[in-house]
Formats: sequence, structure tokens, C-alpha cells
Amino acid sequence: MNPAAKSHLSLAALAVAANSSRGRRYPEKAHAYRNDFQRDRDRIVHSRAFRRLENKTQVFTRRFSDHFRNRLTHTIEVGQISRTIAAALALNVDLTEALALAHDVGHPPFGHAGEKALDAAMRAHGFHFDHNLHALRMVEDFESRYADFRGLNLTFEVREGIVKHSRDYSAAEHPELGEYLLDQRPPLEAQLIDLTDEIGYDAADLDDGFEARILGLKEIREGVALFDRGYRNAEKRHPQAAQKLLFNEALRSLLDAMVTDLIDSTAANAEAAQAHSLDDVRQHPQRLAGSSAKMEAERRQTKAFLYERLYNSKALHPEKDLAERIVTELFETWMAHPEKLPESYQQKLKAEPLPRVICDYIAGMTDNYALEQHEKLVTR
Ligand code: MG
Repeated sequence: MNPAAKSHLSLAALAVAANSSRGRRYPEKAHAYRNDFQRDRDRIVHSRAFRRLENKTQVFTRRFSDHFRNRLTHTIEVGQISRTIAAALALNVDLTEALALAHDVGHPPFGHAGEKALDAAMRAHGFHFDHNLHALRMVEDFESRYADFRGLNLTFEVREGIVKHSRDYSAAEHPELGEYLLDQRPPLEAQLIDLTDEIGYDAADLDDGFEARILGLKEIREGVALFDRGYRNAEKRHPQAAQKLLFNEALRSLLDAMVTDLIDSTAANAEAAQAHSLDDVRQHPQRLAGSSAKMEAERRQTKAFLYERLYNSKALHPEKDLAERIVTELFETWMAHPEKLPESYQQKLKAEPLPRVICDYIAGMTDNYALEQHEKLVTR
């Protein structure tokens, strides 16, 4: 049964209502047939930052095949998983989808390696890089689409969710984020995103890692108990099926188990906390969205397996080294020669320190564009 239906509480009362937004930075007239969060979702889909996700690495830098995820297809998967969960919990599906589609727009090129290198380059000059805060700058400032204002002029709830979807920020360390109710938890719609992101990439990275032949079936079955149980069930049900189809069935059951557990546990947490309203969700000392302790252990095991055997595998070293070299050398080239930055970025130097301007420029790049710039400025 749908958890929203079997819960003793009305989960819908915990949702952000479509007509309840605290509003936009620049007030706009209501749209004739789209609510505020549907408009925000559409603004994100139509942004340049969203389109660039297509050429940003998720895990594999130079795609071994066209079937592997990039940040755009990963984002679409997270969007779908999030919609399913939000609907089952009677939350606001449009707000959830807008947040899922925006969750990776602040990521630099070359996946995790690119992010690490960019952060290290910033730290060498006394700054640091945070992809959540960068995503906020992109939607607030860098997107230039509307005659009336800078940025996308998103609702408060979407901006708050972009900032707080994966962690809380302290008001003492981040006075510039003061407007985002830092002493409160974000709504459940935002709390879900980091969890669905991880479910999405756990399943996807097992899939792509297997397809790339970096992960073997035997080691996945030995290393990920949840997958192994799914595989054994699939073998029983389909004794004649090809190995790859059994693999797919096992992966499907892993994804389904993680999603179902997240839905049930979040409903149970809300009930245990006696949360009757969005305000109760916000005021609760901990986030209410989460998995059961049992599934949390399965999730940790899956993640540890992926780190050891895939993300840190020798097979991905050359790509990671390349990513690090490209980002670091581009950064240092512009530190030494700010006059080589594009004119529009040189203008930004009037308001921002040089490392921040360089960081903003690099963080917005696709993998291809970063490689081209490196070729033009460093290699030659
Ligand atoms: Mg993600």
C-alpha cells in the first residue's frame, strides 16, 4: 500500500503547497496555467548550465561507450526517482523535480577529480570551492535570460533547496546565506534529493562499471549483498536468462529496495516525530527523510565497494590524472596571466578576487571546453 495512504498522519500536510511560496527576489505575475515550482523546473531545464551537463563527466571522463551516464542522464535519472518518491509520500512533486534537475548544475567538469582539483587550486590561494554554493551563484547571477533581472529569479524554496539539499550550513560561517533559514531543516522535498542522488548513482555506477568491465559479476555479488540477493532471486525466476539480463534484474531489485525503504522510512520517521505540518518538519532537530538502519548498512556497503573497486580503481587513474592536470594548469595559467581571461571575466575582477573569477569560469566549463582551452593556452 502507498505509505501516504497507510500513514496515520496526513503526509500531504508536510508538503510545500504549490501556492505557498515565499516568493521570488523580483516579484512576477502568476502564470496562467503553471504554478511557481513548475515554472522554476522549466527555467532550470531551459538554462545553459543544465544543457552543459551533457558534456560533464559523471564517472567516466572519456566515455568508453555512448551507453554510459553523463551528468545530464544521471540528473534525469535522479529526477525520475525523486518524482516517484515525492508522489508516494504525497509531497510536492514539482518542487522535488525542480530541485533534482538543479542538483548538479554547480559541478565542475571531470566529475569528482575535477572538483577536487578545483578545490585544491582555490585552497592554495586561501579560498575553497563548494558546488552547492556555486550552483546558487549560477542560478542567481550567471544565467542571463531575462530582460527584467539577472539569473533565473527562482522561488525561495528552490534556492533554499539548492543550498541545503545535501548539508546544513552554519549562519556563523556563512552570513551571506542568512536569508535561507539556516537554523531550520529544509522541507522534505529538499531533504530527499541527496538520498535519491545516491540511490541513482549507486545503481548507475554498478551498471556502468560492469559494462566497462572494470567490475566483474563475481566481485559485485561478493561485495554488495543487496545485489547478490536480487541476483539469486532472478536466477530462480529466470533459470534460462542470459547473464546480462540477470544482472539487470538484480540491479532493478536493488534500486527498488532502496527506493521503497526510503519511502517507508521517511513516512515512519515523520510519524515517530509526530510531524503534522511543514513547520514541524522545519523545526525538527534532525532531517526526517532517510533510510532504515538496515538499508543504511546496505547502502554504506555498496558505496564502500564502489569507492574501492570503481572510483579508486587503477583503470580510472589515467582519466583522473588528466582531469587534475587540466584543471590545475588552467587555473595557474590564468593566475599568472589574468589578461588571457575572456573580456567578460576580466570585467568581473572589479567586484571579485582573481581566484574566485577563475574558479567560476572553470566550474562552468564542460569537459570538452576545458580540454580545448587547455590545448589553446597551456599545450601550445
Ligand atoms: Mg548527482
